Amino acid sequence: MKLTILGYWGGYPTRNEGTSSYLLESGDYHLLVDAGSASLIALEKHLDPLELDALLLTHYHADHIADVGVLQYTRQLKRLDNNERRASVLPIYGHQEDIENFSRLTMDRITKGVGYSKDDVLTVGPFEITFMKTLHPVPCYAIRVKEINTGRVLVFTADSGYLPQFIPFSQDADVLLADTNFFKGMENHRVHMTSIEVARIAKEAKIPKLILTHLPQEADLDLLKAQAINESPKTEVILAKKDLIIHI
Ligand code: ZN
Repeated sequence: MKLTILGYWGGYPTRNEGTSSYLLESGDYHLLVDAGSASLIALEKHLDPLELDALLLTHYHADHIADVGVLQYTRQLKRLDNNERRASVLPIYGHQEDIENFSRLTMDRITKGVGYSKDDVLTVGPFEITFMKTLHPVPCYAIRVKEINTGRVLVFTADSGYLPQFIPFSQDADVLLADTNFFKGMENHRVHMTSIEVARIAKEAKIPKLILTHLPQEADLDLLKAQAINESPKTEVILAKKDLIIHI
């Protein structure tokens, strides 16, 4: 499968780069994971938004859903071709622990909200997806995405403070995409993880590649990366970057 980073800042966009959004592709199937601020314009460089097959949301914080409304308008107003063909109804997967936000995922004939819950094993096109509830001020789910025909696995922590359950949940994944909003010294925070905590998950779960994301805007990101490498020297550590493509 192919992972393309569309946005990776935590909280707010800056310097022409946006917040959480990731395009996951396998064959000709295109799954968007989270739709943060500036994600739609970043997506357009890689894929016509009308060609998306599904959107999955980890939680309803604004930096993960800011562009959901404009994605709905895009699919309502833009046409596939000169014959005025519309895009198909887009499934948007989200949890149902916030009914007000979940209800906004459905727009008549344009998008359809599809609920998931923690014990589900969801088949989304070529992917099998399982969930883990994270430590965050609002209900939020980490996802383990397996490409069914290859068995390759991506784990995305979504937003979370450190939880030991991340280790069994992430075990033997090929890539860990992890919320690394904080530097060493901020461990055991209840909202986000540090460079040390995400590296510990990669090390304990035997994951060869770690991508640091949900990054702080005004900080020395090379230091953040160095801290992670120091904690888990055998792990390849990568800073998320707009348009970065990782083949998993
Ligand atoms: Zn959040």
